[in-house]
Amino acid sequence: MSRPQFVIRNSSFVIITGGEGVPQINILPKEVYQLIAAGEVVERPSSIVKEMIENSVDAGAKNITVEIKNGGITYIRVTDDGCGIAKSEIKKVFISHATSKIKNGEDLNAISTLGFRGEAMASIAAVARVELLSRERGASLGSRYEIAGGEEIDFSDAGCPEGTTIVVRDIFFNTPARMKFLKKDVTEGNSVAGVVDRMAISHPEISFRFIRDGKQTLITSGGGDLKSAVYSVLGKEFSSSLIEVDYSVNNMRISGVVTKPSAARKSRAMQFFFINSRLVKCQTAMAALEQAYKNSIMVGKFPGCVLNIECDTSFVDVNVHPAKIEVRFANERPVFELVYYGVKSAIEQGDTPKEIIFENKPSFSTASGRLDIFKKNEDKPQQMEFRQKTNPEKFWEVASPRQEYKTSASFEKEQKVYENTLEEAKSFEPEKEEPKAKAPEIDIPDFRVIGEAFKTYIIVEIENALYLIDKHAAHERMNYEKLKSSTEIASQVLLSPVAVRLSKEEYNAVCSNTELYKKCGFLVEDFGDSSVIVRECPSMLSGEDIEELIIETAGKLLEGKTDITPEQMDWIFHSTSCRAAVKAGDYTSPYERELFVKKLLSMPDIRYCPHGRPVMIKMSKYEIEKLFGRS
Ligand code: ADP
Ligand code: MG
Repeated sequence: MSRPQFVIRNSSFVIITGGEGVPQINILPKEVYQLIAAGEVVERPSSIVKEMIENSVDAGAKNITVEIKNGGITYIRVTDDGCGIAKSEIKKVFISHATSKIKNGEDLNAISTLGFRGEAMASIAAVARVELLSRERGASLGSRYEIAGGEEIDFSDAGCPEGTTIVVRDIFFNTPARMKFLKKDVTEGNSVAGVVDRMAISHPEISFRFIRDGKQTLITSGGGDLKSAVYSVLGKEFSSSLIEVDYSVNNMRISGVVTKPSAARKSRAMQFFFINSRLVKCQTAMAALEQAYKNSIMVGKFPGCVLNIECDTSFVDVNVHPAKIEVRFANERPVFELVYYGVKSAIEQGDTPKEIIFENKPSFSTASGRLDIFKKNEDKPQQMEFRQKTNPEKFWEVASPRQEYKTSASFEKEQKVYENTLEEAKSFEPEKEEPKAKAPEIDIPDFRVIGEAFKTYIIVEIENALYLIDKHAAHERMNYEKLKSSTEIASQVLLSPVAVRLSKEEYNAVCSNTELYKKCGFLVEDFGDSSVIVRECPSMLSGEDIEELIIETAGKLLEGKTDITPEQMDWIFHSTSCRAAVKAGDYTSPYERELFVKKLLSMPDIRYCPHGRPVMIKMSKYEIEKLFGRS
């Protein structure tokens, strides 16, 4: 029995085959290992487009046009006016580890180009049909090269403009198994659009044009102004609330734009970081950004940004990830400080006090925070917002909570539970539903509404105790119960449908979950260009809340699975019930309070708002007397 032979060769894949129980090791033919290697680079049309745009940028292009058909699955064309490729070099483009960008190991420490591995074009040509047309700057004639599945098909002279055009057709035509992993054309197309968007905002000095199924959907000026590129790519709404950042320290610079604290969003989808104009995922920068906004935006909301960090190329290792998305710094601390101080000082200068809107939305999650906001509000009471929907009758109108009420005996038991002190009350776990007896009559205990504190807490006297009811939390909970218990959610057709602009990822998530939204009472349609339009919504909502709700739930869906699950419906129910609820700080008349408390007391199993905060707290007469030394 001969010993198996091990052959190790650079960039070759080896397989072990059986033979009399002892595996033999074979060197894979080039076609096979190229196919395997291609898997790393070429995952879907957008990864091809990313590589091709990066090559055009590296070639010094001033204008780049990207065209796709069928989400890029059947057709991708990238045309640039860069330096072009000399005829003698063209074949090398498609050889693995052939690159014009580095020569030796030392160069790796000083990479300034986007590409450097020399494997993208070889990988793409291994799994698709590629046609290349290129004329070197200054040359009188260009050339045409055709390659499919790694096999050369044609190489000839051709008349063409200076620069390079590469067409990629029929991705995965020779690897049907991989083809199956592609998503719907729209989804793939959106992903390509996302790539073009990011390249366009990271290179405002290049004019980008994107054509999708014959329609031009994006054009940037290429004038070098970041704000103008951001406007073209991310839209008017995002661009209307920007603060400029430009800050340097320790030979590093951060520049770009961040959103004003008042324009914070419910998701991180509008955060874009670049390092030396290369799009990256950078946890350090993200953490620093959010730290800089701490205390200026509410918990659960996130700033948006387009920020470029410029630093010495030797300070950052971009070689970590095959798709070059993740970066590593020699030292994270200076990067954190750069982003933190850069952003913090920009917000402080850029967000002048008169622009801070103290609206009566639930912007603070703690009671003390809420008190603060009212202090700031004192001197401008005219800013208090009265919501249109405060029709007192309809306002508290929540459907009878559940058809079956608890017996008064169980209500008494609940009352006992309320007897606990505040601390204990906070730690209650919502109890499991008890089987309910048929008892349509419920004993609402005698109560007296004493008033309202801080426009937030309704003070009620019931028997031997005082209750503070958080009117927003309580109302939210009632709405939530209503949504959860209805088999069909009452919807209303919106007089003016609401268009919501989303990030490409959020947009995908919403478009592929329209069924889920429907179940929750929303008619949401694809509105093209990264927007959806909401035509119907649950009747408890008013139109003004819809945009935020869609953004918030899209963010949640992005993290989640694609099937409709009770949990996903819950997200939407939470969002809906919160927005349909009266806000802390909203005016409520004595009559409304009376109605509200009555309704609430008829739903004795409500103790927590859907977010888990207590709805009411209790102080017994005994406790009060103790505090006054009466007992
Ligand atoms: P890398 O970008 O890592 O060098 P690629 O496989 O992406 O490797 O490209 C191989 C080579 O082909 C590049 O180094 C470059 O010389 C050349 N090339 C590819 N696309 C273009 C283009 N649009 N314009 C000019 N040269 C190009
Ligand atoms: Mg490249």
